[in-house]
Amino acid sequence: MIQINNLMKIYGNTPALEGISFKVEKGEIVGFLGPNGAGKSTTLNILTGYLSSTSGSASVGGIDIYEFPDEAKKLIGYLPEQPPLYQDMKVSEYLNFVYEIKKCRLNRKKHLEEIMQVTKIHDVKNRLIGNLSKGYKQRVGIAQALVGNPPVIILDEPTVGLDPKQIIEIRNLIRNLGRTHTVILSSHILSEVQSVCDRIVIISEGRIVADEKTENLTRMTEDGSDYIAKICGPSREVAKTVREMNGVIFADPTGEREGDAYLFRIRSESGVDIRKPLFNLLAENGWPLVGLESVSLNLEDVFVRITDSDSRARARRKA
Ligand code: ADP
Ligand code: MG
Repeated sequence: MIQINNLMKIYGNTPALEGISFKVEKGEIVGFLGPNGAGKSTTLNILTGYLSSTSGSASVGGIDIYEFPDEAKKLIGYLPEQPPLYQDMKVSEYLNFVYEIKKCRLNRKKHLEEIMQVTKIHDVKNRLIGNLSKGYKQRVGIAQALVGNPPVIILDEPTVGLDPKQIIEIRNLIRNLGRTHTVILSSHILSEVQSVCDRIVIISEGRIVADEKTENLTRMTEDGSDYIAKICGPSREVAKTVREMNGVIFADPTGEREGDAYLFRIRSESGVDIRKPLFNLLAENGWPLVGLESVSLNLEDVFVRITDSDSRARARRKA
């Protein structure tokens, strides 16, 4: 449904995108994740025809965005980072205005009513946009993207600046949109795209550094788990014995105690579940295991690892 090939963008002398390529299939909800300045908005502005690229191509529904911008844009509903809202218009006035601009042909009243239902802005339809809370403004922004019922919805950091309750509401709204649309959602917050998206494309310094199904990325974070174990026994001997176990990468006393138990940080190899053998080994030695807590890496750690190793590799190439 969306195809981006080797996009490059140079602002003045500074490269912002250094060859971005990825695809989005019909019906997917894809998270476009990266830290501030990574190139998310630049990519999405090019994809939606608001910005030209230095080189490379982008198409939506098989239609090239440069060759046939009007046709391609009809397939896209876009919520840019700065929503194009008119503060002195009432919500319903604004949606009618967007309806006109987009030269929409659907039954106006019915269509706009439906959009206001879906985005839950019905109760503010006669209020000035400028007086709405940030959460409501963002929903109006999503509503304008839905006018014309485009099959592809692109949202650039839609939850920035919202409070936790508003974030949950917008997330649910995006999840619902995903049932009937192809969606790209950009964010710099891992847990956000993780909770909503089927797939996550990670961008860092203008390059794609990962493109994985969310479940695979999540599994990566569960591989090679770390544990904090509380064990009653002689600290040094316990550590030495546990280190000799199959599948243990390290076992180190943390230096902390809880009653007569010492705390150890233990890391297992990926795909090895050491919990039962660890329990048995300690029991055989007469060292009671009184606590075992998993501190497996979260997606945030994985993200940092991926982007760190990427920028380290680049630093090596430059050196
Ligand atoms: P993101 O949306 O991931 O935060 P952007 O696409 O906005 O990243 O920006 C990518 C890089 O391009 C940043 O280094 C930013 O400073 C730079 N940049 C973005 N827009 C412009 C512009 N209009 N002129 C010059 N540099 C820009
Ligand atoms: Mg941005």
